[in-house]
Amino acid sequence: MLALFDLDNTLIDRNGSLVGWAQGFAQSRQLPDGAENVICERLRERAYPADFVHLRAALGLGDDPGDLWREYVDGIARSVRCLPGAREGLDALRGGGWTLGVATNGAGDIQRAKLAAAGIVSYFDGICVSEEIGARKPAREHFAAAAALCGRQLSTGGWMVGDNPETDIEGARTAGLRTAWVTTGRTWTDGLSEPDIVASGVAEAIVAMRQARF
Ligand SMILES: [Mg+2]
Repeated sequence: MLALFDLDNTLIDRNGSLVGWAQGFAQSRQLPDGAENVICERLRERAYPADFVHLRAALGLGDDPGDLWREYVDGIARSVRCLPGAREGLDALRGGGWTLGVATNGAGDIQRAKLAAAGIVSYFDGICVSEEIGARKPAREHFAAAAALCGRQLSTGGWMVGDNPETDIEGARTAGLRTAWVTTGRTWTDGLSEPDIVASGVAEAIVAMRQARF
């Protein structure tokens, strides 16, 4: 059975890393109060090199935007942590013969740096990063590419595990996958079809997937 995983705030604690990095960066540049909020707001949903062109101007920095991006990539990769039970869950799925993939929106360099720093690359048969394949979740093409990178096809079914109701869950459902939503403390978005599994975290989602009837 195929299982695709979102990366940020599903397998790793991106929010925690971002806040920590923004605090450290603001201190290192002696930026005024509120600067870390400006950084977190800009980078909360996604982060690309172009965001640092914006932040350089917004924060009045003299740094080259490319240098700021590399500082961000290095800093986030250094601080990345797996969410509780993620590694053990992936291990159990591998042991059970599952085929595992990553389906993540973002820039290739930072998403791959985070996967490597978290020490979980070896669990996956395929890693699909939107920037590298030219298709973002919730597009069906993204899920199809993720399955293909794992040597599978969407038509043979599988699961998607993620924290974003629209991009991860609704996108995967539309692409024909079963879905496990990691709530991170939120309630489901009105108007969207319910996920097959609702779990507080990735470890609980994996337990439920392993127990699910097919
Ligand atoms: Mg996510």
